Amino acid sequence: MVSADPALQALLTRLGARRDVPLAPRTTWRVGGPARFLVQSPPTEALAELFGRCAETGSLICVLGRGSNVLVSDAGIDGVVVTFPDARAPLTLSPEGRVVAGAGVSMARLSAEANGAGLAGLAWCAGIPGSVGGSAVMNAGLVTGGTREMRDVVTGVTYVDPSGVVHHLDAAALHYGPRKSVLQGAGGCVTEVEMQAAGRDAPEALAAATRAMIAERRKRQPRLPTAGSTFVAPEGEPPAGYWLDRAGLKGHLRGAARVSPVHANWIENTGGATAADIADLMQEMMDTVQRQFDVVLRPEVRRLP
Ligand SMILES: Cc1cc2nc3c(=O)[nH]c(=O)nc-3n(C[C@H](O)[C@H](O)[C@H](O)COP(=O)(O)OP(=O)(O)OC[C@H]3O[C@@H](n4cnc5c(N)ncnc54)[C@H](O)[C@@H]3O)c2cc1C
Repeated sequence: MVSADPALQALLTRLGARRDVPLAPRTTWRVGGPARFLVQSPPTEALAELFGRCAETGSLICVLGRGSNVLVSDAGIDGVVVTFPDARAPLTLSPEGRVVAGAGVSMARLSAEANGAGLAGLAWCAGIPGSVGGSAVMNAGLVTGGTREMRDVVTGVTYVDPSGVVHHLDAAALHYGPRKSVLQGAGGCVTEVEMQAAGRDAPEALAAATRAMIAERRKRQPRLPTAGSTFVAPEGEPPAGYWLDRAGLKGHLRGAARVSPVHANWIENTGGATAADIADLMQEMMDTVQRQFDVVLRPEVRRLP
């Protein structure tokens, strides 16, 4: 809920908040209800004030990146949703390889601009359909052609905590693990991500390698709306897709949500799926793998709210 507190309402007006904005088109699964308020690209100081007011008044506030790893509930988010569209997000790259990106910069743009500047080590980011902020929180990464993750390149982040205090956190403070960081579920907002490239290379070579990687991934990825991998298996175990495939779940349907026949760790929206269909299917997948193999899958996909 969002408090009627006059100071909070005035702040929302000042930040140009829009009311009752559908979120389904802003997620790659294309499901979920509306946001009570949507605020775009607030300056960090105003964002800190907004978090502070929400904390003081018991109002819900959360962050949506490019919506490529979230399940928004059918009821929507009765709170304030903050987003950072790519077009308004700053990105600077120094010849020495220091890269500073606003949270909303798309991973595709990060890759393209780093390639163009001859900075190596960021080309793989083009394979992730998310934002830099969301990817820093998720420790997004690729296994295609060797493992590369955000933790390899992130040196620090600017972070507004849920009470509205702004911090600069070094990478070590993020406690990165497989598709996880200390910021997941912490409730604040990353506004800026600092990264270090891994030396220099010819722009044409970097662009060619990126194109080849994208083409390779397209061959193996489902075509319908998904949120990428749904689960992470415990460390040291085979990947989640292995267990889900062995459980015979490929093609399994719940409403219009389907375990992809292409990749058992992906859930497809076959047309008109609800968030409840997807949530029920996820539960069934976890239960089946635990019952058959005694393996506990952890959802990689984040629930909002
Ligand atoms: C086709 C497809 C392929 C994919 N392949 C991969 C892959 O190979 N590897 C991989 O790791 N992932 C993959 N993903 C998942 C997804 O792209 C990544 O997890 C991505 O990093 C999520 O970024 P996002 O901006 O979309 O975040 P969202 O999905 O919008 O949000 C994810 C979580 O981060 C939080 N969040 C977002 N932005 C911020 C911020 N600025 N501050 C604080 N919290 C924030 C949200 O509240 C939410 O909890 C894939 C997804 C799809 C659809």
